[in-house]
Amino acid sequence: MGSITDLPKIDFTSNFQNIIGNALSSTPETRQAVDPSTEELLYPVPVSKQPEVDKAVSAAKAAFPAWRELSFDERAQYILRYADAIEANLFGLQELLMKEAGKPVSNAAGELGFALAHLRETAKLRLEDEVIEDNEERKASVRYIPVGVGVGIVPWNYPVLLGVGKLGPAVLSGNTFIWKPSPYSPYTALKLGEIAAQIFPPGVVQVLSGDESLGPLFTTHPDVAKISFTGSTATGKKVMQACAGTLKRLTLELGGNDAAVVCEDVDVEKVVQKIGPMAFMHSGQICMDIKRLYIHEKIYDQFLAALVQVVKSFKVGGGGDPEAFLGPVQNSMQFAKVKDLYSEISKQNWQVAVGGEPVGSDKRKGFFLPPTIIDNPPDDSRIVVEEPFGPIMPVLKWRDEDDVVKRANNTNMGLGASVWSNDIARAEKLAKRLEAGSIWVNSHFELSPYVPFGGHKWSGVGMDWGIVGMKGWCNTQASWVRKTI
Ligand code: NAD
Repeated sequence: MGSITDLPKIDFTSNFQNIIGNALSSTPETRQAVDPSTEELLYPVPVSKQPEVDKAVSAAKAAFPAWRELSFDERAQYILRYADAIEANLFGLQELLMKEAGKPVSNAAGELGFALAHLRETAKLRLEDEVIEDNEERKASVRYIPVGVGVGIVPWNYPVLLGVGKLGPAVLSGNTFIWKPSPYSPYTALKLGEIAAQIFPPGVVQVLSGDESLGPLFTTHPDVAKISFTGSTATGKKVMQACAGTLKRLTLELGGNDAAVVCEDVDVEKVVQKIGPMAFMHSGQICMDIKRLYIHEKIYDQFLAALVQVVKSFKVGGGGDPEAFLGPVQNSMQFAKVKDLYSEISKQNWQVAVGGEPVGSDKRKGFFLPPTIIDNPPDDSRIVVEEPFGPIMPVLKWRDEDDVVKRANNTNMGLGASVWSNDIARAEKLAKRLEAGSIWVNSHFELSPYVPFGGHKWSGVGMDWGIVGMKGWCNTQASWVRKTI
């Protein structure tokens, strides 16, 4: 293997092609996604159909036997080299991510940094056989066998991290992997595929772009063994249904409506500085953003006033604005959905603590909306019940612990939940009563490549990341050895 610096240079402003069997290829039809900060069309990308899918799946299937035979250490070396090659292209990737996702520089750099760390830390993980019984007569163990061809279906909000977070565990555990990015954000994925083609054997990592008809071609394909899907709950249900036809292995990372419960004993000024960004990060377009904020009635007014000041300090601006903290909503479809929720403000007479419905004079190019807090709306209002996935959040009042637990759990969603208090024992006890795949005390965003991430209830099935995530890319095998005949 040569040095990373000797690899061919990647062009981040043209030549966006599929990566199939380590070759770059286009399709008869192309399409363009939109820069959400400017509403301008970005570069043409392939529109893959059945022939491209069949070709990629065949290449992945052909690459699987040799890839599976490598040791964990050998596969880890490829992943580490891939991380180095990504790092060598960081600037180009960051500029592209800012454009396609509408991310201010801090957010784009943060996503790429975490994606790199994710690959490097994942490379340290190993799946060992688990010996259950070993005596003179017999040995019984549990083994984890890669499933074969895996496909990662990824949404538009974290186009790099959510793809890389599937790729690393999938290929490390011995599978081959096809990455299907969202049609709204295909650019960084295609370039990450081009970089992967410089590192991995052909067919091990491939990327296919397309329109909304592409996902179902994978979920129904007979030679795909596993789908790891991240996206909305509504699409997740369709994916599950489609996978049933060929009994695929399935991980679903779906929507959230995370509750944060703030107790009366917190230092308000300190906690608002943490909760403000955790509610509005990426303009509310993170599955695990705080989406329902329950504040104890004793500190409600003081907390809300302080939170409003924090939110007012967030600068809203496009991908190119170095001072911006909040960017636009990522696409016109989501923009229309979130604007519809904003229009309920006047219809339902919701009290606005900061922000509000955009007025005519706010209109500028780009899918921008003012960060907005709704002050104590009814529990059955749309802003409490639905996942907004935009920069608007309800703040709600609570008094009684049993009651707030019941309200926080009164949803089909169950991605994350947090409790904030100086009394750690009380907070931990309360947090353990919340129905969610991740619970946090005095935080809401702790993540690690070693710790699984996923949802309960309609927020998902199975988990990605860590040893638990890697086991999700494997079939479990029971192995019995009789020591005498
Ligand atoms: P989406 O469900 O519309 O699309 C997700 C992906 O699925 C895209 O790549 C899309 O092209 C593809 N797709 C669409 N229809 C398909 C079908 N029938 N079969 C197969 N694939 C299909 O979601 P989105 O709007 O891109 O993302 C926003 C949602 O994702 C939010 O609900 C958010 O909470 C959720 N999300 C969850 C997590 C998590 O880890 N739990 C992380 C990020 C986002």
